[in-house]
Amino acid sequence: MADRDGLIWLDGELVPWRDAKVHVLTHTLHYGMGCFEGVRAYETDQGAAIFKLQEHTDRLYRSAHILQMAMPFEKDEMNEAQRAVVRENNLHEAYLRPMAFYGSEGMGLRADNLKVHVMVAAWEWPSYMSPEAKEKGIKVRTSSYTRHHVNISMCKAKANGHYINSMLALNEALKSGCEEALLLDNEGYVAEGSGENIFILRDGVMYTPELTSCLDGITRKTIFTFAEELGVKVVEKRITRDEVYVADEAFFTGTAAEVLPIRELDSRQIGSGARGPITEKFQTMYFDAVKGRREQNKEWLTLVK
Ligand code: PMP
Repeated sequence: MADRDGLIWLDGELVPWRDAKVHVLTHTLHYGMGCFEGVRAYETDQGAAIFKLQEHTDRLYRSAHILQMAMPFEKDEMNEAQRAVVRENNLHEAYLRPMAFYGSEGMGLRADNLKVHVMVAAWEWPSYMSPEAKEKGIKVRTSSYTRHHVNISMCKAKANGHYINSMLALNEALKSGCEEALLLDNEGYVAEGSGENIFILRDGVMYTPELTSCLDGITRKTIFTFAEELGVKVVEKRITRDEVYVADEAFFTGTAAEVLPIRELDSRQIGSGARGPITEKFQTMYFDAVKGRREQNKEWLTLVK
């Protein structure tokens, strides 16, 4: 990843990709206190456009606020930085990674001279899963790792350190032949995937966990908008893993995963064992929206040029 051409925005400037380096004593590298976003740009007929840019920037600032990291740039500057990395790297479709982190100004938990640094990189990252996964759905296992508890880490922050939990769960799932993990909260109710929110459908009603211990997903909110348009009722409630087993349809949502059908959980087939019809509808609406093919959702897109 590090040895390539291109430009990365670092602390207010576009620098050559290979020079965008930090010291080994970078505080965030040691303790995980930092926050980031995963954002995506898609090709539209008017050029590359970032999907829900302002929402991602707003969440980054909310994360920083929760972690008490003072952002050294205005939101508008962060929006411009994100547009710049896509534009200046000549990308048509891209995954963007804005991140705020503590530098190497001090070490130890008590360091009080730390500076918040900010970076944004963008690169081509066409598909998170295999193309077949979007049609056939994926195999998921309930994780042996519990999702964060609201008073152990701050679940509303997209914090770097939180992803130890996600990686442990995902690696466990991948090693056991599944494609993603489903994490339960500390009371045993369904929370989310390693990097996705979850929805299930039963008898025409859609259910998704309350936001207690899962991330306030931007794709999740997009699905709420679509559901309203289709007249599908969405209920936010506690969900048990066996409710997922007996769902008619289930799918994950996330900026990277997009709208991803789940065909199996813990070796139990879900519904027909393939992408369900309502999931397919949401997928179509989602891809049409991100690619600028839905007039009514054009305001979700920010052109990079
Ligand atoms: N949950 C977790 C833990 C995530 O990392 C993500 C990805 N940011 C999501 C849910 C989905 O959020 P979004 O739709 O905003 O990408």
